Amino acid sequence: MNKETDILIIGDGFSAAVALIHLLRQGIDAQSITILGKHSPGRGNAYGCTSPAFRLNVREDLPIIFSEDPLHFARWANEHIKDPQAKTSAGYFYRRSDFGTYMNQLVNHQLDGRDLNHIQGEAQRITGSDGRWRVELKTGEYIDAKVMILATGNATPTWPCPVHIEQTSSQLTLTENPWPGDYLHRIPVNDHVLLLGGGLTALDAINGLVEQGHQGKVSVISPRVLFPPSQAPWTRTKQPQWPNPITPARLVRFMRHYLPNTPTDQSEWQCAWEELRPDLNRIWQGFNAYQRRILMKRFGWLWNLYRFRASPQTIAAYHQMRDQQQIEFRCGRAKNITVRDGAIHVTLHDGEVVHGHHLINCTGVARDRLLDQLISDAIASPDALKSSIAIDSQLSVLDPRGRAHQSLWMIGPATMGSLGDVIAASAIAKQAEQLAKAIRLNWMPSSNVQ
Ligand SMILES: Cc1cc2nc3c(=O)[nH]c(=O)nc-3n(C[C@H](O)[C@H](O)[C@H](O)COP(=O)(O)OP(=O)(O)OC[C@H]3O[C@@H](n4cnc5c(N)ncnc54)[C@H](O)[C@@H]3O)c2cc1C
Repeated sequence: MNKETDILIIGDGFSAAVALIHLLRQGIDAQSITILGKHSPGRGNAYGCTSPAFRLNVREDLPIIFSEDPLHFARWANEHIKDPQAKTSAGYFYRRSDFGTYMNQLVNHQLDGRDLNHIQGEAQRITGSDGRWRVELKTGEYIDAKVMILATGNATPTWPCPVHIEQTSSQLTLTENPWPGDYLHRIPVNDHVLLLGGGLTALDAINGLVEQGHQGKVSVISPRVLFPPSQAPWTRTKQPQWPNPITPARLVRFMRHYLPNTPTDQSEWQCAWEELRPDLNRIWQGFNAYQRRILMKRFGWLWNLYRFRASPQTIAAYHQMRDQQQIEFRCGRAKNITVRDGAIHVTLHDGEVVHGHHLINCTGVARDRLLDQLISDAIASPDALKSSIAIDSQLSVLDPRGRAHQSLWMIGPATMGSLGDVIAASAIAKQAEQLAKAIRLNWMPSSNVQ
């Protein structure tokens, strides 16, 4: 089966779903749009998880899909989700799988009975030029499209070091991609669990283990012995007066001065932090590639720590394990992983070896091979952080000479190096709204607009 379409969205997660929803809201004919991805759109890596222990890390009023109706999700959740544990003093923190159901329902509602052109597959290679793109699938089939939206999201985690399996055993498990959460039920209650990485994915694992009554030891292997703080109730009341002109050094000084000297899990600190955030994308985009790289190198870990705070339920689970002295931190980076003699052995760079029965890879996003192919085939250029491809403020992908493609766009977390803090659902939904308007204006003949 080879296919032709006007607009092709590559990906099937949240970004693909919001792109589809906003294109349809712009009156673009559903028949002129095709989605390419393995599952029905809306869930993706973030919200396609099966574990009920994996919760949104933001309260209910923050995932905003429609700018004119910011509380749409909060109302839907109140009507449709039965989850007494969602309520906390910092707001309602719902299950990620329930948010995936919401997104799926929004897509169906927007389609209003029309069929969705959904091709279940994975894009392996993109060739062509403006107005004439070709996507090759893993099966060898291809799709031709006039306009293409890259919404491939967060590439699933891969092991950060070599893995040698000298002995296989059903009692030992290695989980390379923990995001679906299906590994949890394979862990017996008294076994020793190793978490490689100390961010939100490790906290998800801890919450999952606590919910299933885990009694065994948990070792967190991470270069830093620090988890993101819990979300506290916060509001924005003040508008920071940023220095002008601003340099990376001035930015850091200003932020340090603006933030109160209170613990980061307190409302006062988080109110100030959230007051700073709305201007950061504009400031980031004003920095050159060198300045962005320096900032990320020196402060990226701090930024990631405080931008992604965790749900109060998740932090409570961590505190429970900590209070029962069930959890330990092993400071370092893994150099290699070996399975032998009835155990999993993780050797760190300093030579220390940590042993356990189950190893969960919580090291985060890997490289996106499709985006790397666009760079190696000189269709796109790398972004400032060299972690993705570069786009301009209109979301157009830039070619190696810095010129914007007119019909190749990207939205979602991979736009971060170019545009700043574009990870949260509401920031991605804004991109989708902007993009849908641009596509309607520039690409759709009136016959394809209803
Ligand atoms: C585990 C996890 C939890 C998160 N939790 C939150 C949260 O609680 N709150 C929040 O605001 N943000 C959260 N985020 C941030 C998240 O980046 C965004 O909120 C948003 O969900 C990103 O959606 P996405 O569709 O761009 O990416 P993803 O969720 O990564 O989905 C991308 C989809 O595209 C598919 N795909 C990728 N490559 C191809 C290809 N070549 N061909 C076809 N299909 C492809 C993938 O299989 C996947 O299904 C989370 C992210 C992750 C990874």
